[in-house]
Amino acid sequence: MSVAKPRGYRQLVAKDIDRVAVDEPLCHHNSWQIGGPADLFVEPANPTQVADVMCVVQEQQLPLVVIGQGTNLLFDDAGVRGVVMKIGARMDSIEIIGPRIVAGGGAWVPQLARLAMRVGLSGLEHCIGIPGTLGGLVMMNGGSHRRGIGEHVVRVTIVDQDASIHHVNADECQFDYRYSALQERGAVVVEVELECPPGNLADIRREMLLDLRERRRKFPRKQPNCGSVFLSTSEMHASVGPPGKIIEEVGLKGLRCGGAEVSRQHANFIVNIGGATSFDVLQLISRIRYEVRKQLDFDLRCEVRYVSPSGEICPADQVALQTGQIIE
Ligand SMILES: Cc1cc2nc3c(=O)[nH]c(=O)nc-3n(C[C@H](O)[C@H](O)[C@H](O)COP(=O)(O)OP(=O)(O)OC[C@H]3O[C@@H](n4cnc5c(N)ncnc54)[C@H](O)[C@@H]3O)c2cc1C
Repeated sequence: MSVAKPRGYRQLVAKDIDRVAVDEPLCHHNSWQIGGPADLFVEPANPTQVADVMCVVQEQQLPLVVIGQGTNLLFDDAGVRGVVMKIGARMDSIEIIGPRIVAGGGAWVPQLARLAMRVGLSGLEHCIGIPGTLGGLVMMNGGSHRRGIGEHVVRVTIVDQDASIHHVNADECQFDYRYSALQERGAVVVEVELECPPGNLADIRREMLLDLRERRRKFPRKQPNCGSVFLSTSEMHASVGPPGKIIEEVGLKGLRCGGAEVSRQHANFIVNIGGATSFDVLQLISRIRYEVRKQLDFDLRCEVRYVSPSGEICPADQVALQTGQIIE
């Protein structure tokens, strides 16, 4: 007896998208290793296929979630009742011409930073240890040492919700701390053009090695995690200090909810110590925020984003625990 396929499956297959899967376990597509199945999971191989997916999603009125490596995402235990589109290894080309780097949205950031270093281009040293895709990094304006990838972006090629392909310049992206205007547009980043000034290869390499050594020393490496859970702004540093320090100060290092634990190595990390659910993580986030508010009168905000079963994405602190609803 054949099992009925979800709405949109037939149309996606007809468009010849590189990979179309049904009931794909999302725990295989994020660094926390948490999350139920996606009704439909697609991995396009070029911008045209991305546009084709957008057409099907519009025609069939399906929820859509775009992901890279899922290193900043918490999927719900119920998964996603719609389409999850991964921009990953199938769109990871990298081309370097002089100071310009043109790379696919799925390019692996540490690989990109390493290639830039090898040809003596500077500016991406702070990205060497960020384990996501270029599309995810641009979307989040990610970076470290108080820097963001936006500093080097010249142009981003996106596929909009109506399946049209556009080039957007850096000004239009309105990069800010862990923010780009692309987040509100619901667009898919398919290609990014960066400009990086020439630098001294030995200096660039030294800086990258230092960064990697620091990360190995400070961050949990063996247990699945999603990097920093809470935002760390300069205003916060000036008033109460970095999130890891204040969570430790209020005595929450090692606190557990089910399979989720506040890392004993770095308190701004929540690690999956085995079988953690999205509910465990959300509960832990809620406990941490409650204690920090009570003891320090400070409202911690999440960098990590929660993906609801209906495909909405929001900072994980905006989720009502009992219902899984998103609150403002
Ligand atoms: C160990 C560890 C260390 C980390 N260190 C850092 C750090 O130093 N600095 C930092 O900024 N982050 C850090 N992170 C978080 C994370 O790696 C970054 O935010 C990264 O840029 C996310 O990339 P991703 O491909 O995993 O995106 P995902 O987590 O898959 O997605 C993140 C957001 O971007 C959107 N998105 C992803 N790809 C696309 C695309 N092609 N088009 C449109 N939207 C897209 C998603 O919808 C989602 O809203 C760390 C994470 C880990 C696990």
